[in-house]
Amino acid sequence: MPEASLPGVHHITALCGKAQENLDFYVGVLGLRRVKTTVNFDDPTTHHLYYGDATGRPGTVLTFFPWPRAAPGRPGAGMAQSVALAVPRGTLSDWQAHLDAHGIDTTTEERLGDPLLRLAAPSGLSLELVATPDAPATTPWAERPFAEARAIRGVYAPTLPVFADDRTPELFADVFGWTQVGTEGDRVRFRAPGAGRASSVDLLVRDRHPSGRMGRGQVHHVAFRAPSATAQRRWQAALREHGLQVTDVKDRQYFQSIYFRDPDWTSGLLFEIATDGPGFLVDEAEENLGRSLCLPPALESRREELDGVLPALSPPSPSN
Ligand code: ZN
Repeated sequence: MPEASLPGVHHITALCGKAQENLDFYVGVLGLRRVKTTVNFDDPTTHHLYYGDATGRPGTVLTFFPWPRAAPGRPGAGMAQSVALAVPRGTLSDWQAHLDAHGIDTTTEERLGDPLLRLAAPSGLSLELVATPDAPATTPWAERPFAEARAIRGVYAPTLPVFADDRTPELFADVFGWTQVGTEGDRVRFRAPGAGRASSVDLLVRDRHPSGRMGRGQVHHVAFRAPSATAQRRWQAALREHGLQVTDVKDRQYFQSIYFRDPDWTSGLLFEIATDGPGFLVDEAEENLGRSLCLPPALESRREELDGVLPALSPPSPSN
């Protein structure tokens, strides 16, 4: 059993439609920074786009595989239901007006004492902006299209459907070392010690969920943070001790990753544990992050071919 706890969510990855539409929304409307433009290492003829704060610190990162021909996915068992992002308390009416000006419908709700806005991203991904009094300090991108006081402060919590007899609560409490901090109806919130960035997960614990289907607008996986490669190896061993099947370490250029999915322990959701380093500054200077196609050394020889296949990306619009 590791002596430390997992410190929170590292990034969340989803499938989306057109890359340009994705860029226009997450940068042009939500004001995140595109911190990396690269390819899907498992299918380099498609993009992998990363967004986050000014440098893409762990806990602020959303990543997307654009897959325009994919059928829309369906939320349900084995799929995350939604992704909540943190915004400072008192900013929701401004956010609502801003999203309305971009033709994006929102609904309001209160959850465990915090007001939130629900909206659907153009891909169909269900997003929430949670106005929290303890929005963590991040360094928002300087070129976002609105005041810094309103900027997104990273991931707040994914909402994950789990079955009542699944061991997912046990995974968070007894293996990850997180604490149950609140319940509301069938929603159970777990939080990592220290309450840093992206330190919460909401489980929707029910006897039944509709079956989900992977596709456009669905979360592909949720990644949690390991501070170092050593810590990641300890987590890999600890998960295997609990009987979980965990992959070998995969080099993702900006972090190293292990993956695990189990019908009981993760309710069929794909989980990842990613190292904090080396981060997005490993192959680009901070001022240039995300502007041009970055390839891992093993794919550099295919740059010309891939440049010809990948859709061209223009700077995001709109930005009013
Ligand atoms: Zn990932």
